[in-house]
Amino acid sequence: MKPTHIEHLGIAVPSIEEAAPFFEFLTGSPCYAIEVVEDQKVKTAFFKVGQTKIELLEPTSEDSTIAKFIEKNGGRGGVHHVAFNVENVAEALKEAEAAGIQLIDKAPRKGAENLMIAFLHPKSTKSVLTELCEQPK
Ligand code: ZN
Repeated sequence: MKPTHIEHLGIAVPSIEEAAPFFEFLTGSPCYAIEVVEDQKVKTAFFKVGQTKIELLEPTSEDSTIAKFIEKNGGRGGVHHVAFNVENVAEALKEAEAAGIQLIDKAPRKGAENLMIAFLHPKSTKSVLTELCEQPK
């Protein structure tokens, strides 16, 4: 696999409204997009740091995996996943599978910002939930 850069860091927060001022301070830039991703039951907010982004994830439902993650972390959340940008997610998934890496997504699906995304299982990625992203063409 040959990612071009870290696309974003996913950080789970109980409330985007509460967390946003800190990330605006930290990145020196305003939140430039807020988007609800229905099938993942999350609301996302984005900040830019060079070509890398910070993606805040707030659960929109109690059965969201993000809600469970926050609960496990004492209600505070924290770093949830690292997303690598690749040229072609489908190809990268094939490569990962051939290397014996366990996949969460067998095929790319649509994520926030119209990216095609897929997750690799933390069991195979040193416990770091890993996302692969492909920019819209
Ligand atoms: Zn992400």
